[in-house]
Amino acid sequence: MDVTSRTDDLRIAGIARLSTCDWPGMLVATVFLQGCPLQCGYCHNPGILDTRAPGTVACQEVVDLLERRGGLLDGVVFSGGEPTRQSGLGDAMRAVRALGFGVGLHTAGLYPRRFAEVAPLCDWIGLDIKAPERLYGRVTGVSSAAAKSFACLRIALDSGVDLQVRTTVDPTTMSQSDVAELTESLRAFGVRDHVLQQVRAEGTRADYRERLAALAR
Ligand code: SF4
Repeated sequence: MDVTSRTDDLRIAGIARLSTCDWPGMLVATVFLQGCPLQCGYCHNPGILDTRAPGTVACQEVVDLLERRGGLLDGVVFSGGEPTRQSGLGDAMRAVRALGFGVGLHTAGLYPRRFAEVAPLCDWIGLDIKAPERLYGRVTGVSSAAAKSFACLRIALDSGVDLQVRTTVDPTTMSQSDVAELTESLRAFGVRDHVLQQVRAEGTRADYRERLAALAR
């Protein structure tokens, strides 16, 4: 694998060396890229959201893993954080493909230009659509993210790449009727695979866990 200087720039916060759930039906290694501009209350990776922090894993570690696990893994999923923040993502995906592995992407769709660049390099995309557009500010802390996520949804659908749209149902910010509204609008958009995920308290910030617990009382 030719590790170019751009893939070396990739800021990697961690690797899951073997995952059966990050790409449905595939055995993958998952690479978590540092930094995300959103502040979803239910985030399980609050420790890697800082967009100024450096990576903690060398790109070469991923290369070594792929070379060792060649016959075992189907592919690599780039996750985060928000992987499309990083300019080296496309080169990293090309390098993974050149080694003969499939490429998956987990994204909240926040950088439409880079998303359009990398979508054709993917075999599978898991795109988080967080909420109906009008509720993005409440769910993610950044209302302007809605237009970007829905722009990426359009790009993903037009690309023809295998796509799963996922929504975490956060009872602290969305009602069941908000979820139904989103499901209906995604269907109208042309989404065929929309998965609702329940929030899990583990790994979230203490203040969020308290809000979630208060709802259950
Ligand atoms: S988009 Fe994902 S990584 Fe970013 S804050 Fe939300 S849950 Fe966390």
